[in-house]
Amino acid sequence: MTEYISYDLIEWGHPFEERSNELPAPAGSEVLIRVTAAGLCHSDLHVQKGFMDLGEEGRLTFAERGAQLPMTFGHEIAGLVEAVGPMVKDVSVGQQVLVFPWIGCGTCEACAEGRESDCAAMRIIGLKQKGGFATHCLIEHEKFLVDIEGLDAAHVVPHACSGITVYNALEKMGPLRDGAWMAIMGCGGLGMNAVAIAHAMGVTNIIAIDIDDAKLEAALEMGAAKALNAGCDDAVAQLQDMSEGRLMGVIDTFGSASTGRIAVRALAKAGCYIVVGQAGGDFKMPQVWLPQKAMTVRGSHVGNLSQLRTIIDMVRAGKIKQMPIERRPLSGINQAVEDLEAGRVSGRIVFQPET
Ligand SMILES: [Zn+2]
Ligand SMILES: [Zn+2]
Repeated sequence: MTEYISYDLIEWGHPFEERSNELPAPAGSEVLIRVTAAGLCHSDLHVQKGFMDLGEEGRLTFAERGAQLPMTFGHEIAGLVEAVGPMVKDVSVGQQVLVFPWIGCGTCEACAEGRESDCAAMRIIGLKQKGGFATHCLIEHEKFLVDIEGLDAAHVVPHACSGITVYNALEKMGPLRDGAWMAIMGCGGLGMNAVAIAHAMGVTNIIAIDIDDAKLEAALEMGAAKALNAGCDDAVAQLQDMSEGRLMGVIDTFGSASTGRIAVRALAKAGCYIVVGQAGGDFKMPQVWLPQKAMTVRGSHVGNLSQLRTIIDMVRAGKIKQMPIERRPLSGINQAVEDLEAGRVSGRIVFQPET
């Protein structure tokens, strides 16, 4: 075979289009994989629109972030190794691998310390480099591949984004004391994995928050102890009641003005609010609360290669409960985007080749 198919964005704000490409031959340490699973992440929806909502600051376009069209997006990628470059040592043809997409510049202080997620010049696969909405994908170095031999590719693929994103945030949060509570805001793919991974890391006092009862039901099954529908008028009071006044941590996987408003009001003194979701808008709070409530407000962006390896080890040890997965053919990508946008997806849509 000398050609492969991808579903590319040709113009911002337009549907993905099928394209035929020349199949690359891997050189040096490169690895060519045949994609067996590609997750559809909420950020792919932002990418398709072409911008993120910066509230009063306007918009941040992906063109400004250095993404160029046409591009093959998709950053949750697993596949079978089809060909390897002559310098490749540790990966072999036929092996099943998961791709770490958050490649740093490799030269800055953050990269040197293994904190690629804090690199200001990331070369993200599926944003700056061709990603997984395709039959094949060329990875620039074997070191960005994690062995997932024996695992279901569709099950583990969301960990490359949603898994490490919440793991990174939970590490920043640190352990909770006995009797303290943590809230996970938003129960989409990211929030569902946040509940599962927090649980795997030993947090049992978890309150799941969403405005969709079906998603809350799913979050309870994933290990949340309590659930709150935030579509009510007294979400803050209810959250304080449910946590017995000891809400010490909030991981916000939605990230909007309304979730931020609830979080900083409901948190107990010395509580910590970490935002990983990027719904957008402006975050506002009384500034006096930062000292008065000794509050920590911080953000966390994706995660690191070492964290992805840790998560896959946890999956192999049976520690992380599997979130719901909807398998679909890549040819249905535009319908999938519509369904995710409309909130009709529980867990993650994962594209797999039709058999
Ligand atoms: Zn993502
Ligand atoms: Zn860097």
